[in-house]
Amino acid sequence: MRIFTAALATETNTFSPICIDRRAFEASLYAPPGKHPETPTLCTAPITVGRRVAAEKGWQLIEGTAAWADPAGLVNRQTYEELRDEILGQLRSALPVDAVVLGLHGAMVADGYEDTEGDLLTRVREIVGPDVLVCVELDPHSHLTAKRVAAADFFVFFKEFPHTDFVDRAEDLWRIAVDTLEGRVRPVMSVFDCRMIDVFPTSREPMRSFVDKLMRIEREDPDVLSLSVVHGFMAGDVPEMGTKMVVVTDCRPKKGQALARELGLELFERRGTFRMPEIDEKQAVAAAIAAPAGPVVIADMWDNPGGGTAGDATVVLEELLANSVTHAAIGTIWDPMAVQICMAAGEGAEIPLRFGAKSAPGTGHPIDGVVRVVRLVRNAEMRFGESIAPFGDAAHIQYRGIDIILNSTRAQSFDPSLFLVMGIDPSAKKILIVKSTNHFYASFSKIASQILYCSAGTPYPNDPAKTPYRRARRDIWPITSDPHAPQRGAA
Ligand SMILES: [Zn+2]
Repeated sequence: MRIFTAALATETNTFSPICIDRRAFEASLYAPPGKHPETPTLCTAPITVGRRVAAEKGWQLIEGTAAWADPAGLVNRQTYEELRDEILGQLRSALPVDAVVLGLHGAMVADGYEDTEGDLLTRVREIVGPDVLVCVELDPHSHLTAKRVAAADFFVFFKEFPHTDFVDRAEDLWRIAVDTLEGRVRPVMSVFDCRMIDVFPTSREPMRSFVDKLMRIEREDPDVLSLSVVHGFMAGDVPEMGTKMVVVTDCRPKKGQALARELGLELFERRGTFRMPEIDEKQAVAAAIAAPAGPVVIADMWDNPGGGTAGDATVVLEELLANSVTHAAIGTIWDPMAVQICMAAGEGAEIPLRFGAKSAPGTGHPIDGVVRVVRLVRNAEMRFGESIAPFGDAAHIQYRGIDIILNSTRAQSFDPSLFLVMGIDPSAKKILIVKSTNHFYASFSKIASQILYCSAGTPYPNDPAKTPYRRARRDIWPITSDPHAPQRGAA
């Protein structure tokens, strides 16, 4: 067997001021054929798992380009077209192939392309023809469009949020692909539109039990090859934004459709119960000060570069300063200009510095003060599960008793190693501020005395009922209170 694999991914917050060009991909991951490292990034596990599967089977894996940019705003049109055409050209050169196994995110929006994955997959299908297997692993924070469903044989989405299972789901993807190529199964995809948009952390109930139930059905029902919840991505203002239920059966489309509907309506009935309890910055800082022991982790949950924001908000820092808090550390505030100044000043220097809150409204004010440059690291990296996440040249500064990490490649706070590489012992701090909605949870929960989800400022469109969408459909909850009512009435 000859199998082509490649990856092209980012998550586009169409409300973000941070536009993405080729340099942004190169800063996060740009690996031409054969140059992908041993460890996968979030959307490239189909490549690393594929290497192992192909070696075991004695099959030929033809690797195309893998590119991933950290989530941000609109992708430059030429950048998308170049990367797409690079991969399509590699696929043409690889023909004939028996399968195409891709890693995509599912929420990339480029200038002129509202559905980049639909565009890419349609072109892949045109190149390989109707009989070649095309399958994809995707992030659930994505838009499942009819165009994509029509172009591919089946999709597998990460089940966990935090996405701790991106390697496990790539294993699922390959297992189903191998079974298909060896004639044991015929995957058929069924989709149900839940007509809602919500946030579904699996680190808490009720989503934990729902995902456990999906995995139980996968184990027990031989007709069911894979079940996925497409959470949707509320910061992507595109026509098909919303939550969908995907069932892949072994050629049982009627059963798949019924199961997708049943599970999808179960999710819909629990709308509004999935999100974490959120408090504002005043409540969060007061609770952290009052806590008997540290470290209390305050997630600045909506200034999450992983959701495409700049990641430079200072709202929580301003609250810490207003309360004269010390023994706190912040990882991170994105400010390449300030990092450059710190690099020039050198370790040990005391300098006047303006940092933070330069990119967007609703993110606090730039901080002005005399800071001490404690530690400088070029090309800093943190761990993220089995992967490594770069956060660029970084400076550890101290300001009024608070340790602050300034970074120059936007990255959400995945792991406490973020602090350690900058010379800060996170376990020794009373308060840790991280920029992450929920991915931080898997690793920080191991060291935290308490975790507080803090909604500070307005860096992100986190209330779909109020978000000024121009392209997204209006007939979904919570924009509409009960979008399924007319269907139920007709049934
Ligand atoms: Zn995601």
